[in-house]
Amino acid sequence: MEESDFNLNKQNIDSASRIVASMERITQAFRVLLWQESKMYGLNPTQVQVMIFLHYHQPDMRRVSYLAAEFNLTKATISDTVKSLEQKKLIKKVSDTDDSRSYQIALTAKGKRIAAKASLFSSAIYQPIKMMPLPVQEILLDNLLSVIEHLRNTGLVSIQRMCTSCIYYHLAEGDKMRYCSLLGQKLKVTEIRIDCPEHLTKAE
Ligand code: SF4
Repeated sequence: MEESDFNLNKQNIDSASRIVASMERITQAFRVLLWQESKMYGLNPTQVQVMIFLHYHQPDMRRVSYLAAEFNLTKATISDTVKSLEQKKLIKKVSDTDDSRSYQIALTAKGKRIAAKASLFSSAIYQPIKMMPLPVQEILLDNLLSVIEHLRNTGLVSIQRMCTSCIYYHLAEGDKMRYCSLLGQKLKVTEIRIDCPEHLTKAE
């Protein structure tokens, strides 16, 4: 039978398990930080995450269906979140000109101020990473991208917008050179994007 990554005997002899357990601790820290930030504004974590997403993404992504896919939630849950944020006057619905039943979601001025402040919730996690030497950051990033790409291939990560799933992304020189044909440039590891506004999903 497969041993759990949380079995200490396994962890003691298997560094991959210790890495998984470490990631779980970092996830806990994200949850705590997001929860603390949410409480400051009388919001719940999902409401804050939605507002941060709206603040940093383009209008065509600011729709109920897109948000539901982004956060792996049902459309009904996102609709409730939208309704609650609208009642708090943090967002507004903007009807499409060609279909009044369809709408985009925009932050109000107050919503933008809160989203900008709340989006700093991850700075406690950023700081120790920023203190690492750049080559160490590159190795860490490269390996995290590999893990995310694997999870995307197995369907556990549904969010696209990363270079590795983009139609403009190419590998050359025996997979050593990464290239973006839209930007017309080689991509260093530190230039690989995980959330690119120009991303276009390639056919699998
Ligand atoms: S368009 Fe963006 S996501 Fe696509 S390869 Fe270029 S940088 Fe990466």
